[in-house]
Order: sequence, then structure tokens, then C-alpha cells
Amino acid sequence: MPASQEDIEVLQRIRLSSTYVRLALVAAVLIPVLLSEYTPLKALAVAAYEKHLAGNDDLTNQETNSLVRRMQDLLQSGFGIKMDIAGADEIYQNVYEKREGNSNSPASMLTDPNLCRLILSDTKLSEWVGRSKYPEDFKLFSALHEVSHCLFIMPDYAVSASNSDELTGFLHSLPIEDRLAIKTFSQLLAAENKPEVSLYREALGDVFALGYFRLMSLDPDNAKAKNFKLIRDRETDGIHYTGCWITAATNFRVSPNNIGDLKVWALTIVETAQCDLAAENKKSRDRALKHRARGKSFAQRRH
Ligand SMILES: [Zn+2]
Repeated sequence: MPASQEDIEVLQRIRLSSTYVRLALVAAVLIPVLLSEYTPLKALAVAAYEKHLAGNDDLTNQETNSLVRRMQDLLQSGFGIKMDIAGADEIYQNVYEKREGNSNSPASMLTDPNLCRLILSDTKLSEWVGRSKYPEDFKLFSALHEVSHCLFIMPDYAVSASNSDELTGFLHSLPIEDRLAIKTFSQLLAAENKPEVSLYREALGDVFALGYFRLMSLDPDNAKAKNFKLIRDRETDGIHYTGCWITAATNFRVSPNNIGDLKVWALTIVETAQCDLAAENKKSRDRALKHRARGKSFAQRRH
């Protein structure tokens, strides 16, 4: 007997529902597998891509980056200091690898007791300077800022030949109270964890960079310095809130005479500026905490 229309419909419904059951079973098995695999797979892909970017940055820095040459010449001619440029591994670690507290920095400086190494990422630096009205100048400003870390911090690591914990430098990279109190290398390393010390060094960095702008007449009407101050006023990383010192540098009447003068020029301004380090540091930390409370990721540390 041929199947009635009703039988055909029932059969179709059974076939359809068994297809759904099969699909549901496949999904029940596959979805957890996909979910567990997805994150590490994505992380691996991101890491591979970031390694590729670090390699590109390394190539640019080593072969064609005139900014690097300019910074090397400045340190050599003005202060007799040799600076190297960091390779792909360090660029990857400091710029791309997501490590709490020290990553994602477009430019940073490794300051060892005997050598400074500039870590520069053209890729990240181009993104970073886009926030300024003067991107090329802001790039130069950022590189000069890093050079100042080499110039101020490296000599402070000098120790006595007979006692490797006894400091022999002037400790100019520290605020005056710490400078007077600290005698040993281990005390210096401990002091570097204080946010006031970081802020003081960042202020020195920005003022030093502005000294170079002044020396080279790159900002005759201070429009660039004002723009850089605006960017610093919006910082939420709890470290680079240097606006008060930028204003002090802008208002300082005397200009540096030559490259070799820049260090003393910056030091004089930061030490005489009417800026309360503790108060500025508190504002800076409050901004960072508020930023984090708003659910935004904690801005990564830059040097
Ligand atoms: Zn810095």
C-alpha cells in the first residue's frame, strides 16, 4: 500500500529531528573543544605576529633609522657615551610581549651600569605619536626623553672598585632627599621602585628633550611644548605626569648653549621648578587609579 501524505510528513519530521539531534551532539562535543583551543591558538597567532613586527622594527632601526643615528651622535658628541640599539628579542620583550608593568612601550631605554641600549619600535612609535599635533616632533621628543634616561641613570650605577655595593656617582637621577640618603647600590635599586623617583626621572627626561628643542630652535613659540604638556596631562599610567615641569622648562629664561649643557640645564630646571613632587605624584597615581576603576586596563608602564 502506498504511503499516505500523512505518513510521508511523519517520516520527514523524524528525519529532520534526527538531523537536529545529530547536529546538537556534534555541537556538544565540538564547542567545548573549540572554546578551550581558541584562546591559546589566538595567543599563539598574536605572539607570532608580534614577533614578526619586532623583527621589522629591528630591521628598520638597524639599517635605516636616522633617529637612532641622531641619538647615538648626540650622546657620543655631547657626553662621550656610547649607545647601542636593542635587537629584535628585546624589542619583542619590551614592546610587544604583554607583561604587567613593563610592556607596550613605543620607546624605552635599557640602562645597564656600562651601556645604554635604546629600544625603539617604529610601528608602536608611529601609533603613539599620532596623539600629537606634531607627530614627527613628538617622535624626536620621545627619543630624546629616552636618551636622558641613559644620561642621568647610567652614571648613578657607578660603584667603587673595592666594594661593588658602594655608590660613587652623584645620583642626579634621584630627587634630592633620596640623593642624600642613599649610599649603596642595593638602596638605589630599592629606591627605583618608588613612584616619586620614577616621576622625577620622567620630568628630567621631558625637560632634557625640551632643552634640545630650545637649543636647535625647533619650537620658537612653545606651541609644541604646550601640546606635549597636554598629552602628559592626560596620562593615566601613573608615571609620566610631568606637565608641571614642562611648564617650568617653557618659562625658563636661559637657553642651553650646546649639547653638553643639556644635562645641567635640565637638572637646574627640575630642581628649581615650583613643582611639588609628592603632590604631582599623588595626582598622577589618583588619575591612574580612577582610570583603572573605570574598568579600563591599567596603562602599561613606559620608561
Ligand atoms: Zn621615561
